Order: sequence, then structure tokens, then C-alpha cells
Amino acid sequence: MKILLVDDSRAMAMVTTARLESFGHEVVHAIDGPSAIAHFQQTPFDLILMDIEMPGMNGFEATTRIRALEGNELWAWTPIIFVTATDTPTNLVTAIEAGGDDFISKMAPENVLQAKMKAMSRIAAMRSRLAQANTRLQNQANRDGLTGLLNRRAMDMQIDQLWEMAVASGKAFSLMMIDVDNFKKYNDHYGHLAGDDCLRSVANCLAHTVQQANDDKVAPGAFVARYGGEEFCVVIPDSAPGVHVGVGLAIVEAVAALQLTHEKNADWGVVTVSLGCVCAHPASGVVGSLFRLADTLLYKAKEAGRNRCEAA
Ligand code: GH3
Ligand code: MG
Ligand code: MG
Ligand code: MG
Repeated sequence: MKILLVDDSRAMAMVTTARLESFGHEVVHAIDGPSAIAHFQQTPFDLILMDIEMPGMNGFEATTRIRALEGNELWAWTPIIFVTATDTPTNLVTAIEAGGDDFISKMAPENVLQAKMKAMSRIAAMRSRLAQANTRLQNQANRDGLTGLLNRRAMDMQIDQLWEMAVASGKAFSLMMIDVDNFKKYNDHYGHLAGDDCLRSVANCLAHTVQQANDDKVAPGAFVARYGGEEFCVVIPDSAPGVHVGVGLAIVEAVAALQLTHEKNADWGVVTVSLGCVCAHPASGVVGSLFRLADTLLYKAKEAGRNRCEAA
């Protein structure tokens, strides 16, 4: 484990550090409460061993402050064990009230210290598994299962945030609605599994094209999401005038250039997309109206023959 040892006595800290290191742990020593808090803010620890009597800020106060820093997430919680020369019942009660988890005497025999560290190591391993599971779940909650793109939920959350930022900064904001052309016919002709493959290829192509625009600094911060079904969205949060048209055209061209055969797609013979894109200053409305406008333009692109971009 990585242990933060808080003790105002250097001699005592040296002895404890040597014992903990002999059990295979890594120890960082903090000489008082404030430096313990500073260490804790910088690096995560598996365990904090906290002295009680220290000049200035005592161990109880340091613990209360550390607990106040932690979020509400389970995996952010770090066990704190008080280590003291005076293990009275009152001290034990105060220690737990302050947010500590256990209590150990400075006089504790080596095997007792070792046993406590073993129990704490189990908890540390559990916390690490919890944190990993949480990262995995968060990822699953934000990603679309078929394409791996951001899903509708994640997109809506991001747009709300970015829209507020754009309102504050006064910068323009672009939104694109992209729809695969004659996709029902694709499914009917080639089957749903092939349809899924096709959606994955289109999604990759969109992600790649948007990434390219990002890398070229044409559309910094732009991202693509699966809106639902065979519909996708591209958001350019900090959009210079006309950028959305360039990116929109690049997307239409890139999808057609994939040359995915689609015999039933009217004049084109390959998979194509139609696209409606708008660029607006947030001061001029709400984000919902941007979606409606993009959708109207998409419809116009469909009416005009598909495989094209209509912009406003
Ligand atoms: P248009 O050019 O006007 O957009 O015509 P379209 O056929 O693409 O539009 P329509 O809305 O009639 O059909 C969309 C089709 O997309 C119907 C639906 O079965 C298919 N679809 C939606 N989601 C998926 C998916 O995840 N996988 C597959 N294979 N098909 C999907
Ligand atoms: Mg002390
Ligand atoms: Mg559609
Ligand atoms: Mg379609």
C-alpha cells in the first residue's frame, strides 16, 4: 500500500516507517496536519496513519479537514487509522467522530500492526476494483454500444455545458444533423447485420473526419455522437464563421469515398449521408431551436436529392 504517515515526531516516524517498509509498504511522511492535507490533495493514498497529539492542528482536526476534501464517491474514501500513545475510550470515540476508521496504540506489538495493515490492504484492493468498475460503467453509460461513439445522453449533457460556455463567451456554436440515405433499403437488401456493419463504418468515418478537423485546428473541440438509429450529430463548440460548411462538406465527401456498395441508394450506388448544419450565436436563441433548424435543413438536403449538405 501507499501509506501517508502523519507524525510530528521524526524519531517515531522513522521507527514506524522502517516497520511498515519491512512489510512491503511505501511510506510518505508528513510532519504536521497542514502538510498531511497538502500531500493528500496531491496524491492518492491507500491508507493514512494519523498521530493525534501534534502542535498546531491536531490529528482530529486534520482528519475532519481531509474528510471534507473527499467527494461523495465511495472509491474516493481513504481509510484513516489513528496512532497514539494514549488510547483512552474518549480518544477512540473522538477519533471515530472526526472521521477516522480505527485506532492503534504506538506501543502495539509488531504482529498487531502487521495484522491491521493486512486488513487495510484488503480494503485498498477492493477500493481499486471499485474505482476500475466505476470507470468502466461510466464509459458504458456514455458510449453507444454499436458504434462506440458518444451516445445521445452524453451528447445532451455535453451540449448543455458547451452551450452555457458559448453564451458566456459569445462565441458561435455549430450543430450538424447527419442521416444515412435510404438506409431502410440497405437493411432490406443486405440484412440488418450488414446494416450494423455499415453504421459502424459510417460512424468511424465521421469520427475520423471530425478528428482531422480537430487536428487541423479548423474545428477545435468538435465531437460526434450517435443521435439515434442511423442519425448522428456533430457539435463544434467554438466555431469560426463558415467552418461548419467546410466540415459538413468534408463529411459528405468522406462517407461517399468509403465506396460502400448500396445498390438501392438511387443515383449513387454507394452509401451516402445527407446533412443539415447550422451555426449560431447562443445569444440568438436556445439550443433546442438549433436542433429544429438543423433538422429542417437535413430534410431540405433529402428533398434536393440526398448525398449533400445544406447549411445556414
Ligand atoms: P432517408 O434517406 O429518407 O433517411 O431514408 P431512410 O430509409 O434512411 O430512413 P428511414 O427513417 O425510413 O429508415 C431508417 C432505418 O434505419 C430504419 C431502421 O430499421 C434503420 N436502423 C436504425 N437503427 C439501426 C441499427 O442500429 N441497425 C440497423 N441495421 N438498422 C438501423
Ligand atoms: Mg505527536
Ligand atoms: Mg433517419
Ligand atoms: Mg436515413
